[in-house]
Amino acid sequence: MSLWTHYHTPTTVDEALALLASYQGCARVIAGGTDLLLDIRHGHMPRPDALVDITRIAGIAALHQDGDVMMLGAGVTHAQIVAELVLAARATCLVESCGVVGGPQVRNVGTIGGNVAHALPAGDGTTSLIALDAMADVVLEGVRQWLPLGELFVGPGQSRLDQTRDLLVGFRFRLSGPREGSAFKRIMRPQGVALPILGCAAWVRLDESGERFADLRICIGPVAKVPACAEAVEEALRGAAVGAEAVERAVVVARETLRPRTSKYRATAAYRQEMIEVLLRRVLPLAVQRARTGEAIPEGVGME
Ligand SMILES: Cc1cc2nc3c(=O)[nH]c(=O)nc-3n(C[C@H](O)[C@H](O)[C@H](O)COP(=O)(O)OP(=O)(O)OC[C@H]3O[C@@H](n4cnc5c(N)ncnc54)[C@H](O)[C@@H]3O)c2cc1C
Repeated sequence: MSLWTHYHTPTTVDEALALLASYQGCARVIAGGTDLLLDIRHGHMPRPDALVDITRIAGIAALHQDGDVMMLGAGVTHAQIVAELVLAARATCLVESCGVVGGPQVRNVGTIGGNVAHALPAGDGTTSLIALDAMADVVLEGVRQWLPLGELFVGPGQSRLDQTRDLLVGFRFRLSGPREGSAFKRIMRPQGVALPILGCAAWVRLDESGERFADLRICIGPVAKVPACAEAVEEALRGAAVGAEAVERAVVVARETLRPRTSKYRATAAYRQEMIEVLLRRVLPLAVQRARTGEAIPEGVGME
């Protein structure tokens, strides 16, 4: 039995929205299909009458730099992100996270929009977009608007997007500038192919002297029910001198404030708690080093 009856390839946002509306809740948005088709096949959702493929919408698979701002269409694939030099240099954490998603086949069709719309607190691309303070271009109940990305999520696997009616169109975020840098690392089961045990992205800005954190954002997932920054850890480091002491301070505050959950398939809460510390010790110094030197070569991309 076919997984769907009708398959549409609209070329504009309006056409996609009109198609979704015409099926009155019985059509689903599809991009790369790497999550969606498994969900349908495994009965995690009812078989839709129709799939509305957004990847032919004009501009939705485009990356565009406007000065210090980067715009990504929701249909941009992980492989496109990995290949973009300006992102490697100035949004390094995003390249590092998209570079370890699945294998080459998944990265070639899986999109950053699909990663976000799936709304899992462990989504690798999502973790880095949160650390980069991205905004999302969305159409919710017919109203096109920009939302801080974090405001899109309501629970594990749940966002404000009704994927039978709404559309995620794209993202924008500021590229790292002088004295800024970012990094992403994750812990994965050796044979794991899908979501990580834990991922951590950090973005830092150093002060004029290069010796103190002027600002920073750290996203660790899955910890909370939605992708979110570790605000208490960030607060503890803002204004602090960079170096080993700051990393240890981050570890202590993370231990006190972050409560990861046990997942049946991936790891216990206790293991994740320990891994938060490991990731902070790896990611923070790397982001600081990149901010200091202005040089960033993504690590680990395509290695898993
Ligand atoms: C073998 C394998 C390995 C994987 N490894 C990883 C991994 O290491 N890390 C990781 O984070 N993920 C991983 N994934 C999950 C998946 O590949 C990614 O989340 C991918 O980015 C999903 O994008 P997609 O375009 O395929 O989404 P789809 O499957 O097309 O869509 C996913 C969901 O989002 C909705 N959707 C998609 N685009 C939009 C849009 N523009 N507007 C509104 N709703 C939309 C769909 O309706 C669906 O509910 C893996 C999957 C597989 C099969």
